[in-house]
Amino acid sequence: MDSKVDSSAQHPLVQLDVMKLVLDNIGAYVFIKDINGCYTYVNQLVCDMFQRPVDEIVGYDDHHLFSLEQSDDIRKNDEQVLEHGKTIAAEERNVIADTGDVRFYLSVKKPLKDASGNIIGMYGVATDITERKLMELEVQQNNKLLDSILSNIDAFVYMKDTDYRFLYANAKTLELFSKSMGELIGCRVEDLLPADQASNFNHMDAQLFATGEKQVGEEHIVDDQGDDRYYWSTKIPLFDDNQEVNRYIGFSTDVTELSKLRYQLEQQVQEETAKRLQQERRAITDPLTGLYNRFKLNEAIDSELTRVRRYQKCSSIIMIDVDHFKEINDELGHQAGDKVLQALAELIATHIREVDIAGRWGGEEFLVICPETDMTGAIQVAEKIRKAIALAPIACIKNRTVSAGVAQARGHEQVSQFIDRADVCLYQAKRTGRNRVCF
Ligand code: GH3
Ligand code: MG
Ligand code: MG
Repeated sequence: MDSKVDSSAQHPLVQLDVMKLVLDNIGAYVFIKDINGCYTYVNQLVCDMFQRPVDEIVGYDDHHLFSLEQSDDIRKNDEQVLEHGKTIAAEERNVIADTGDVRFYLSVKKPLKDASGNIIGMYGVATDITERKLMELEVQQNNKLLDSILSNIDAFVYMKDTDYRFLYANAKTLELFSKSMGELIGCRVEDLLPADQASNFNHMDAQLFATGEKQVGEEHIVDDQGDDRYYWSTKIPLFDDNQEVNRYIGFSTDVTELSKLRYQLEQQVQEETAKRLQQERRAITDPLTGLYNRFKLNEAIDSELTRVRRYQKCSSIIMIDVDHFKEINDELGHQAGDKVLQALAELIATHIREVDIAGRWGGEEFLVICPETDMTGAIQVAEKIRKAIALAPIACIKNRTVSAGVAQARGHEQVSQFIDRADVCLYQAKRTGRNRVCF
């Protein structure tokens, strides 16, 4: 027995009703039209789509079924097949007459010919791609919207890779660098700006890729006209599938006017602060010697006495008077006397300890405050100063000497009483021969 099916016989699996079953369940619209465009066959899916029984479709053309004035694709494609014998594989946008539904199809349409090759009709298979198409259209619309936002936004928007190369730039950014998108993509700022300015821009980029964190800050360039321009930038890292930063998106706004105003204000504040400090310093400084003045010395002695009272600390003062100073003025003049006072002040300042406070009490009298210092310590400081002056090689004070009186603070007394006690000692030094320290 031969098991091969006899091809001339009608095999049960290719009988018409089976073929119909297959076509009805094939998941695509299948149809045949005659040369006039009237349907001669439609599968079940076509009936379902038009929501009509088969006998309300077969024998009719598309005028009854689609809104043809809105479904230009059908007319054009069918014409190509029926009149020119072409095969069409194309997307069609069709509007269903009964419901007004807009559907998108991927249609394949081919001519049917008789034995002599004359076109007698056509057949087609169409797949409904409406859902995909609508999604595509939505994405397109969103892209358009995004594009128009990015083009019109008053900010520089750009994307860069780990090599700091531009991957994207919006219209404003392209305008800034006077480049087209094609020219800018792949560029680094070094290709667009002088090296020192580029490094300023790359600083934030490097931080971002090193930390994987968003960066916010000010960036600065000098433009073609040599003017400073400032940008406030936010740079947001973008991650790949492995959670590695592979790009970032940056937003920068021109804040030049604001920044300039801020820098002006900062400078103004700095200048005013410096001026105020200078004024304050002037109020406590002796203009001739640069040491503290009598006002500041009084204040400092007062706070020393308070400390001594409150914490039972010790503190001492040294009153210094130049010996025979009148002679200098008389012999060399007042200006030379001033020079001597300046040189003495410098010598005193260099021979006290860091914690000590030196000032000009008046005329040719100096006063040194020695905090946390008892009588013995203060005498040592006074002796150091006295010797330094007596032995100074400086021309204008050569052979000049000073006398000094030392007093240690008593918590209960007033500033004037404390100073008077030092003064008494000073006069004792004068009386007993000068160039000495008394206490
Ligand atoms: P001694 O203190 O040793 O008793 O004698 P002296 O000559 O120094 O006497 P006294 O201390 O009384 O004299 C101070 C002199 O200092 C009087 C004054 O003309 C002079 N003098 C005070 N202030 C200044 C000043 O700012 N510049 C100058 N050049 N001289 C001053
Ligand atoms: Mg004097
Ligand atoms: Mg004197």
